[in-house]
Amino acid sequence: MIPKTNIEKQIVSLSETLSPVSQKMQVWAEKNIFIKWGVLSRGKFHCLECAHSWKPDAQKASCQKFINCNSCRGKLKMHQYNQVHFKEIEYFAVLDVCGGFQVVRIICSHKNMKKNCMPTYFHKEVMQHWINVKGEVRTLSLGTNVFSQAYDSWKYYTSLEIRPKSFEDSPKYRINPYKVYSSTKTISVLKRNGFKGSCCGIAPQILFTALLKDSHAETLLKTGQTDFLSHYLTSHSQHIRENWQAVKTCAKNHYKVKDFIMWEDYISLLRWFKKDLNNADLVCPENLEEVHDRLVERKRIIQRRQHIKELRQEIQQAQIGYEEQKKQFFGLEFTRENLSICVMESVHDFLEQGDMLRHCVFTNEYYKKKNSLILSARFENKPVETIEVALPSLEVLQCRGDKNKISPHHKKILKLLHQNLYQIKKRMKNKKEERAEI
Ligand SMILES: [Zn+2]
Repeated sequence: MIPKTNIEKQIVSLSETLSPVSQKMQVWAEKNIFIKWGVLSRGKFHCLECAHSWKPDAQKASCQKFINCNSCRGKLKMHQYNQVHFKEIEYFAVLDVCGGFQVVRIICSHKNMKKNCMPTYFHKEVMQHWINVKGEVRTLSLGTNVFSQAYDSWKYYTSLEIRPKSFEDSPKYRINPYKVYSSTKTISVLKRNGFKGSCCGIAPQILFTALLKDSHAETLLKTGQTDFLSHYLTSHSQHIRENWQAVKTCAKNHYKVKDFIMWEDYISLLRWFKKDLNNADLVCPENLEEVHDRLVERKRIIQRRQHIKELRQEIQQAQIGYEEQKKQFFGLEFTRENLSICVMESVHDFLEQGDMLRHCVFTNEYYKKKNSLILSARFENKPVETIEVALPSLEVLQCRGDKNKISPHHKKILKLLHQNLYQIKKRMKNKKEERAEI
């Protein structure tokens, strides 16, 4: 992208003045950011670090995860599959100060390995994050291959270009270098805000922007709550600001949280119960899992009670309307042998029938349907199917059993129903006559 705004032009021209990543930094990275590898090939161990190879003493050695090389004294991680070329790719960061900006330079390093050869390295600066004293950031980066599955398949032949402000939302922005080069240059305001040289495992650009514009991050670093800080800045499911009172209580009591997801969940329960978050006995439990589970259960009981109360009120309300609409059909019952069909008389019956037969006759409020009559078919007095008859046409709309499927009594039920539809019709007539009388 061509720099357009003043700030973009300024950063691009400042970037050109930065000295390239030095030989010394590259050598440091080669020593510090990679693993040493070994591989078993045709019955021989090969050190991919120093080209030494040797025959194993015992057969059992072949399935080890790590072995030691006698020549370079390296502890080698074993490649599980033999191949011709081996590769490891890591990132490291170099911190720089330029024109009042904090610069985080991200270098992508490749280590190429082959049996009987010394490893070769390739380093390329792929991103520069330019952070001003307000914690605003703009990034220069190489282009990436958009057709690749990986989000960071860099096109090494491209050059660093300024990216739009929205680059902050890209996963590339959040790339956390494995290590930060030890001789670091940082702007003084970062030091004032608590930065002492360690990034606490957080990507420097994430940590610095937070330290410069977010007092919560600053406080967490200054109080030494680096676990909290890391959770706050890197977890997608954190509620540190909502739980701030509790975080402060932890700091006062030097409480270490092992499982942040559970702890935050637990604190939100304490808030739900309106508990005092200054109380260390509550906020800093010895057995987090136990107290967490206890509160979950207590909340569940309260919610269930509340739900039943609401449901009862709803049913009472609905019953009044239901009776008004369908009273003339109450008492209708058709029986043959063990089978009976009766009109549902209370909204509570809808709830029961719906629960028993696992269908939606209650949830979907069939008791409110003016142009339907709902009947319950029972076999040996147990509900087996629920029937919906259209009013006034008396068409049978549905007749379903468990989970909306038909029961073994389906045919008999329909027969019994059809034989008695005239009774429903009579009740409809009666109602009309009553009305006429009035
Ligand atoms: Zn070796």
